[in-house]
Amino acid sequence: MGQFLPFTKQVLKNLFSEPATTQYPFVPKEYPERTRGHVDINKDQCILCGMCMRSCPPGAIKVDRAGKTWTINRFDCIQCGYCVEKCPKKCLSITPGYQEPGPEKFTYSVEVPYEPPKPAAKPAAAPAANAAAPAQPQA
Ligand code: SF4
Ligand code: SF4
Repeated sequence: MGQFLPFTKQVLKNLFSEPATTQYPFVPKEYPERTRGHVDINKDQCILCGMCMRSCPPGAIKVDRAGKTWTINRFDCIQCGYCVEKCPKKCLSITPGYQEPGPEKFTYSVEVPYEPPKPAAKPAAAPAANAAAPAQPQA
């Protein structure tokens, strides 16, 4: 009987004490300042230039100019922040927090509304100044 006493004491202690871990996902995680987190995009500012894709060391970003999409594979991203530094429009940022766990691996993709400027229409060719004058009828 004496062998159960420490066990019972521990059970009672556990029942009336705070849980040792936070209750994910019911208690939102508070990330410490300077947590790296994940890369976010402000798609309205993106011009699909591809600088982020070219500068990403592990190749986690894909920019499809024709399809107008910006895609990141978060499992490849190492949160180095180089894409954020290189983006000429400053539309990338590193935000605290991580992709929520799920049963499947997936990439995060957004459609970018950017419309590239249309090439200016060429002006109609002006007649050459030294063009030969039309022949005058003979009298
Ligand atoms: S933070 Fe680094 S690894 Fe992640 S997408 Fe940007 S450049 Fe690539
Ligand atoms: S996120 Fe920035 S660097 Fe990447 S394609 Fe858009 S504008 Fe260019």
